[in-house]
Amino acid sequence: MPQPYLLLTPGPLSTSDTVKAAMQVDLSTWDSDYLAITERIRSQLLTLAGVSAPDYSAVLLQGSGSYGVEAVLNTLLPKQSKDACLMVASNGAYGARIAEMADRLQINHVDLIVPETKPVTAALVTAFLDQHPEVTHFAMIHCETTTGILNPIETILPQVKDRGIITIVDAMSSFGGIPINLLDLKIDFLISSANKCIQGVPGFAFVMANCAILETCQGRSTSLSLDLYDQHMSFKMHPGKWRFTSPTHTVLAFDQALSELIAEGGVAQRYQRYTANQRQLVNGMQALGYQALLPTAVQSPIITTFKTPNPDFDFNRFYQALKDRQFVIYPGKTTAAPSFRIGTIGVVDQPEISALLAAIESTQKLTH
Ligand SMILES: *Cc1c(COP(=O)(O)O)cnc(C)c1O
Repeated sequence: MPQPYLLLTPGPLSTSDTVKAAMQVDLSTWDSDYLAITERIRSQLLTLAGVSAPDYSAVLLQGSGSYGVEAVLNTLLPKQSKDACLMVASNGAYGARIAEMADRLQINHVDLIVPETKPVTAALVTAFLDQHPEVTHFAMIHCETTTGILNPIETILPQVKDRGIITIVDAMSSFGGIPINLLDLKIDFLISSANKCIQGVPGFAFVMANCAILETCQGRSTSLSLDLYDQHMSFKMHPGKWRFTSPTHTVLAFDQALSELIAEGGVAQRYQRYTANQRQLVNGMQALGYQALLPTAVQSPIITTFKTPNPDFDFNRFYQALKDRQFVIYPGKTTAAPSFRIGTIGVVDQPEISALLAAIESTQKLTH
């Protein structure tokens, strides 16, 4: 067995012992217990998002988060069509991934590309839309995990929707950790996954879907397994029934994780904890001579990019020294500056951040 360590990464992340323990049961996908758990999860997700059935459906889908994003694009947008056009607003790798999916799917798209250290803003989006009246669908990232920047979806999406455009948000690394109300924000499709801020384990994605729109998309997906319409209709016609084998243990862990989220005080409370973690981390890192890449005003509480402190800094040695002290962090993913990233989500609180900072201090001789 590998040595256990605390994951300070944006998912998979550190889960509670009780979430891990919930997986110690083998359930049949046809059993009524399992069907009831799936339905409970679907209804709790809608509640978290501030919406309800039958207007919205929480569609669970096997695979990682990207499978959910690709299912949304493939199901909503016709291929090789001039009648539909997707606008992708991108300021990092996950935005670029949406554009790449659109390419692979032969979906007509136009991209607004913003530098990685700058937020996507309502002014940029509306100016771009003025130039592109052909846009019918709009996709953007909430927390761009590439840098940890938080894009202001609350000022952007209502304006996009008011132009009659279908709104899609990749809230993979924020849903459950940052309050998001789909009705207030006029979100038609929101994608997230089991192993991020809900604090479950990997195995499925979920899409909060506007049913009136989704139910016009029968037969449009070129993929059978990623057909979000078919998946939604399966849950609608046979409550709790996924198409194809579902990750039963992951579902049990997720059910437990949702009850722990509610016990913690809900998303608002979790947001407070993540925010406090992130502030403590940045203050502590600053005291040790590490600067955050982003200004506080656009920084999310989810993950923080730090610039490497000097040209001699060796990330691999730093990583290994921290792993020896039972902390695992992430390499940098931005091209803006040499960097590394530290997540502040999962079962992580003040004592863990303090312990991490002490571990980093103890590596200073190695890395300075
Ligand atoms: C994690 C993440 C994804 C999905 O990545 P997977 O590796 O497929 O789980 C998509 N978008 C964002 C912003 C993410 O943080």
